Amino acid sequence: MVIKQERGTMADSNRHFYPMYKDHVYLKARKFGACGAMTGNIELIVVFVNDSKSVWSDAERKRFLNAVRYDAEYLEKQARNWGADLSIDYAYFEVNVPENQEERWYDYLMEDFFKHPEKRMETLQEYYEKKLGFDDTPLLFVFNCEGRSYCYEGDRDNNYREERPVYFAKSMGKDLSITHELLHLYGAYDYYYPELTKETAKRLFPDSSMLTGNREVDDLTAFLIGWTEYLTGKAIEFLEATQSLDSNSINKAINDIWDGENGQRR
Ligand SMILES: [Zn+2]
Repeated sequence: MVIKQERGTMADSNRHFYPMYKDHVYLKARKFGACGAMTGNIELIVVFVNDSKSVWSDAERKRFLNAVRYDAEYLEKQARNWGADLSIDYAYFEVNVPENQEERWYDYLMEDFFKHPEKRMETLQEYYEKKLGFDDTPLLFVFNCEGRSYCYEGDRDNNYREERPVYFAKSMGKDLSITHELLHLYGAYDYYYPELTKETAKRLFPDSSMLTGNREVDDLTAFLIGWTEYLTGKAIEFLEATQSLDSNSINKAINDIWDGENGQRR
């Protein structure tokens, strides 16, 4: 079953495609946030971060950029299968962390680097979008040390999501897939928590990047990131099965996963 999108007015056109699911927590982020839809010409800006624990060799940088290229091409291919127009290129630069930084709170370090008055990725991205002439220029921060990659998430409930993806290359294994965190930037949700979501995803989207960390984009994620205007039968089944969830239950699950350390990471 495929339900056709019901367009609302301009004002609510992002939020009320599907009136019966308009309050569903997983639909709130569609095309919102730092990046909007994953379509058009996108330039990934890879920021290699150097500090006392994160030291990059030329070969390691090259390996990471090769992985970026691989994921970019694989995403382009999947987008084509949905009829979406997507072209992803990349650029990179390096930044050095000031030596006296003791706390390794990466998201706050990011703010320090750029000394940006508003400290919002959205405005930082706009700067690069204008400067480089792309539709979208997400910044990916990469450390060459161990850690758990994440997206730092801002205010989801006020129609604005600020996301900063942070990668720890030494813990990414051979696979080095950047897709999962990148999809977060465009509105995708994790499928490995809470339990209800995990069980539903295992049944309906067992290969999804949002469940496994690999590179596959499932039906609901394709809708959330703007590759399609339609919900497939599977996506609807997923929404039906998880309809009891709200942002509180999801935030609690995130806190549990991060030991309460920072409920805004995922
Ligand atoms: Zn995630």
